[in-house]
Amino acid sequence: MWDVIVIGGGPAGSWTARGFAKAGLKTAVLEEHSEIGIPIHCTGVVGGAMLEQFPQTKSCVWREVNQFKIFSPEGESFLLPNVKAFILNRQKLDLTLAHEAQKEGALILLNHKVSTLSQEASHVTVEAVTSGEKTVHQAKMVVLATGSTSNLARQSHLGEPPQFIRGVQVEIEIENLPTIELYLGSRIAPGSFAWAVPTCGKSAKTGLITLENASIYLEKLFDSPFLKGRMNRILSKPRASRIPLGPSPSTAVNRLIAVGDAAGQVKTTTGGGIYYGLIGAEAATAIGLESYKNGDFYPALLKQYHSLWQKQLGFELKAGLYFRKIFDKIQDSDLNYLTQRFKKKDLQDLLHQHANFDRHRDLIFALSKVPDIRAVMVQLLRRNFFPGRNSFSLC
Ligand SMILES: Cc1cc2nc3c(=O)[nH]c(=O)nc-3n(C[C@H](O)[C@H](O)[C@H](O)COP(=O)(O)OP(=O)(O)OC[C@H]3O[C@@H](n4cnc5c(N)ncnc54)[C@H](O)[C@@H]3O)c2cc1C
Repeated sequence: MWDVIVIGGGPAGSWTARGFAKAGLKTAVLEEHSEIGIPIHCTGVVGGAMLEQFPQTKSCVWREVNQFKIFSPEGESFLLPNVKAFILNRQKLDLTLAHEAQKEGALILLNHKVSTLSQEASHVTVEAVTSGEKTVHQAKMVVLATGSTSNLARQSHLGEPPQFIRGVQVEIEIENLPTIELYLGSRIAPGSFAWAVPTCGKSAKTGLITLENASIYLEKLFDSPFLKGRMNRILSKPRASRIPLGPSPSTAVNRLIAVGDAAGQVKTTTGGGIYYGLIGAEAATAIGLESYKNGDFYPALLKQYHSLWQKQLGFELKAGLYFRKIFDKIQDSDLNYLTQRFKKKDLQDLLHQHANFDRHRDLIFALSKVPDIRAVMVQLLRRNFFPGRNSFSLC
């Protein structure tokens, strides 16, 4: 009988396991793959706040950038100034956090794919498949840190995030990519964005997120003027995954809590979830330890976890969803117009003052106070709510 079983050895799972193990609880992590951090589906860009709050992650930094270059569909660009971001070696991050959990006494069991969970009065039974064999484990409490693709959360009545966006990325060799570039437009990332992120030497990660079929758009991105002519070769197979958009309706039920992507702890603007998942992991550990101390793993106490992480991230997630709703129906001509507008000094100053890698609410509100930008937002909202009247243009 384990005190805690964490399912999933990604960042959120390992950090939760570390917290419980550090407090002396008998903790196991069950990870389906044979290696931690593989396969890599993520670009690994995070803000400075994460490195400050979780200094163990500093050793995983590949590069630091201080601005982003954003391209309109017609190829014009503006700078997002003064936004410090760090590009991490994502596999090293997962390994580092798993090692932190091990150092505190957590046992990591690789090749353990969990297939079913059953919540009983005094414990949870977890069935896993290990090299074709079924293994059965029991714990007083279980943490689901299975990322965005598992169906265990749905199976166990935790529910799922309300929506998912699709993401795909690949490693390439590219010339002349000094900073992170973001590409907008219906031809390469409808309703969202694509990117090229320099990693080591001439290597970069390029990919996109969209509500549509991301893999089809990746081909179009390769062929776009943004990459064509600069991209020397493709270094890896494309990896597609999905990203939650919005929190799960419930992230704690009897003896069971969800963290990270499995809980929807992901920025609803950009789809970045490493930092928010670690914040969720801290909240899970704090409330889980309280439950353990009181011998009470029932929803009333565990639900405080849902309130705690919602208090820290809930407004951000809501503001991001609002922002997405506004920009859902944006057209290329609007993006071209906005790009020109964002080059102007007043908006560059506003970006300088309010842009923050991890928290986007302030910037969204500050932009909504600029009269012509507010007018654009209103037009876009009208387009969303009165789709029949689609003929008006922003410019
Ligand atoms: C294309 C793309 C680019 C991204 N870029 C960024 C970025 O730049 N910055 C950022 O912050 N975020 C980014 N993200 C999001 C980020 O990858 C996730 O938010 C983050 O990995 C979530 O961490 P996690 O620990 O919750 O889940 P994961 O990292 O997905 O880990 C879940 C773990 O659970 C294991 N697992 C799943 N099911 C089972 C099972 N049944 N039994 C046992 N083990 C299981 C998996 O093997 C995996 O190891 C990106 C996502 C995508 C798709």
